[in-house]
Amino acid sequence: MTLDIVVAFLLGAFTWTFMEYVLHRWLGHDPRFRPNLFAAEHVRHHGEGNYFAPSWKKACAAAVATAVLAGPAAAIAGWATGLGYVVGFVGMYLGYEVMHRREHTHPGFGPYARWARRHHFHHHFTSPRVNHGVTTPIWDWVFGTYRPAGYIRVPAKLQMAWLADTGTGRVRAAYAEHYELVD
Ligand SMILES: [Zn+2]
Ligand SMILES: [Zn+2]
Repeated sequence: MTLDIVVAFLLGAFTWTFMEYVLHRWLGHDPRFRPNLFAAEHVRHHGEGNYFAPSWKKACAAAVATAVLAGPAAAIAGWATGLGYVVGFVGMYLGYEVMHRREHTHPGFGPYARWARRHHFHHHFTSPRVNHGVTTPIWDWVFGTYRPAGYIRVPAKLQMAWLADTGTGRVRAAYAEHYELVD
């Protein structure tokens, strides 16, 4: 019983990583599915760099997803296990939100955080057609859109808060190997 709930929780989290890819790649960047509500916010995020959709919109989307998932999950697996699935899904979604925002606002510590930033900023500034995953590269591998991040040229007006020294305006030494500011 307890193992069921843990497995359901992990499965819910894994399902979110797939949704993260689907929403970002097809709703956010595929012209066949635009315009749509997600793309409107996402295009602005790309265009302004430090813009994020308002939290109330995200909370509404999370509430709708919870309501839609809860019934079928409970019908299939029972209330406790079904709830475990939904909590895993929504928990991973919240983790993604925090992580994506921090990628833009704070430098990352450790190999995973550094990888995730380069993966995401390759998407922002080198090619928005690749590297759609934010928390994991799994779905980019599956769908053939994974590209190892190379040297990333960041337009100065879109730069991340942590990238450059505020005094000199130059890329901090720690990041100069991977990032460059351009006009
Ligand atoms: Zn971003
Ligand atoms: Zn994007």
